[in-house]
Amino acid sequence: MNIIDTNLEFRKLNYINKPNNIILHHAAHSNCSVYDVHRWHKDDRGWSGIGYHFFITKEGLIYRGRPEKAIGAHCLNHNSNTIGICTQGNYTKENMPVGQEKSLIELCIYLCTKYGIKTINGHRELNLTDCPGIYYPLKKIKKEALYKTQEIDNYTVKCGDTLWSISKQFNMSVNELKKLNYLNTDIIYPNQILRIL
Ligand SMILES: [Zn+2]
Repeated sequence: MNIIDTNLEFRKLNYINKPNNIILHHAAHSNCSVYDVHRWHKDDRGWSGIGYHFFITKEGLIYRGRPEKAIGAHCLNHNSNTIGICTQGNYTKENMPVGQEKSLIELCIYLCTKYGIKTINGHRELNLTDCPGIYYPLKKIKKEALYKTQEIDNYTVKCGDTLWSISKQFNMSVNELKKLNYLNTDIIYPNQILRIL
């Protein structure tokens, strides 16, 4: 994963951000750049500069916005403990390209690991807004990023266990359990070691 530095000029920033949550946005604009958003937030709205910490283009290029340690300006009442990621595009009316989705998941995994983050939200889950749009793959991004970040444990199969009973016990689906253990079958054996979340 590569983060492109932008060297944007900000007015005063507050370096007391303590991220424990990632908030996902769309630009609500089909082809704007990180520099456009910076200009809109700085000149038109009079903020310190771009409110998001990252901006991802449809091609999947990841640009740095506001420094991670600086308090953002992207989600009312949630700016001092979050990282804001904005994606180019208007996901109230278009679908997200594969390359952008891939970079978004990679960036989320990187940030979750770096800060021990276990929560990812869409903007609309925290404020009254449509952002990031109904066509934004919110569920998928959350699931894939958090799934791959979580610590993996071992479980030794006992007599009478089934994939179903084990998945219930660890609050996973049978499919997740099979995927994590590269199982092509539902058959498991006593003393078999399974990876669990
Ligand atoms: Zn938003």
